[in-house]
Amino acid sequence: MAKHIIDEAKRCLNCKKPQCRMACPISTDVPGFIQKFLNGDIVEAGKDLFENNPLSVICSIVCPHEEQCEGGCILGRKGKPVRIGSIENYISDYYLNINSHDVIEKKPGRVAIIGSGPAGLAAAFILARKGYKVTIFESEEKIGGVLRYGIPEFRLSNDILDTLHEKLINLGVKIRPNTLIGPVITIDMLFRDEYDVIFIATGVWNPNPLNVKGESLGHIHYAISYLKNPDAFNLGEKVVVIGGGNTAIDVARTAARKGAKNVTILYRRMEEHLPATKSEIEIAKLDGVKFEFLSSPIEFMDDKIKCIKNEIVDGRVVHLEGREFFVEADSVLIAISQSARTNIVSTTEGIELNEKGLLQTDENGMTTRPGVFGAGDVVTGAQTVVKAVNYTKKVCDSIEKYIDAKYAE
Ligand code: FAD
Repeated sequence: MAKHIIDEAKRCLNCKKPQCRMACPISTDVPGFIQKFLNGDIVEAGKDLFENNPLSVICSIVCPHEEQCEGGCILGRKGKPVRIGSIENYISDYYLNINSHDVIEKKPGRVAIIGSGPAGLAAAFILARKGYKVTIFESEEKIGGVLRYGIPEFRLSNDILDTLHEKLINLGVKIRPNTLIGPVITIDMLFRDEYDVIFIATGVWNPNPLNVKGESLGHIHYAISYLKNPDAFNLGEKVVVIGGGNTAIDVARTAARKGAKNVTILYRRMEEHLPATKSEIEIAKLDGVKFEFLSSPIEFMDDKIKCIKNEIVDGRVVHLEGREFFVEADSVLIAISQSARTNIVSTTEGIELNEKGLLQTDENGMTTRPGVFGAGDVVTGAQTVVKAVNYTKKVCDSIEKYIDAKYAE
């Protein structure tokens, strides 16, 4: 065992009112699992973590800990917080590898899960362990959603997703890869085939365009398209990334690792406004990524970008007239945001979207069509893994009530 894990665990003050837990979106009982671990019960500690969050092993790696549990840790006020993520990772990784995640109940009911990102995976674990028959439909070749096709492998190893895949198969979950629900298999077909509930967890996979002249030229790409398979792209040496969130950072770091000599992030506001996590910004700088603040593209050309300088007036970005400048670019990666695709709603009656194009759901997570539920980014808009799992947990409670009521009739 890495000694620093024990040393870190011993630093936990086991607070009566743990701020770390309060700062965690899924209310992980941090002092509880650390004490069990220190008392020699790593299996119980791992079980608690898994029961509360079936994707604990993933969250322990990708959560923005500095803004959540570690940000709440009282030791962080005067010194360094306990490295909770590392301890959670050690325990959850151990538990994932030894535990078979047995079915704990047997119940009648069949559930179709559309999408295998964090929301779909969490729902599959929760509902399969309750004894329902679960099938996952995934448009990509492999499970994981953003975890596999967005977050680069140097941040999250695909081996973990392969292990989760194996665990789901052992639980009896059926997985249909390369199957896009909507054009061929529709929601109506799923109901025809006696699924009691359909759970939509399709995320947000349409890149939002910048609507700048030149955006359709051959060297301009969208970040999420690039991250899906970076090796399919020839970016050249000078790469400019447009955006300031974690996706912009991931795409810039990936381009640098794939051989781009000069990677610059162009961001329309100031450094302190960057929405990306502080530690991610810091590491991107160490990876050699440069930043150009208060700058917006106004036209993409064959080998350069025409940009303009901005100022911030009452919180708004305002272009400074006459302050145009050029940045050389072999390729551009646009990472400004994403929205939901419409493959399902365009082929199904009765599923309403809200004004943002996201699934409209009630307080139980049910869409406007009875028996069709939704969770994750397709309901909340782009969020985080832990938030998608937490939302899914609540919706799974409603799904259980819905199916059980149906079979009690
Ligand atoms: P997704 O992960 O998007 O999964 C949706 C799945 O549905 C996909 O597998 C997709 O292929 C499938 N699908 C879509 N339509 C269909 C269809 N019609 N039929 C069948 N399948 C379909 N969050 C963090 O907490 N930490 C991070 O470090 C972090 N980094 C990120 C980096 C990037 C580049 C991006 C884009 C996001 C990042 N996030 C991060 C956000 C986080 O990954 C998302 O909030 C989370 O993945 C949402 O989960 P989801 O299950 O709702 O959707």
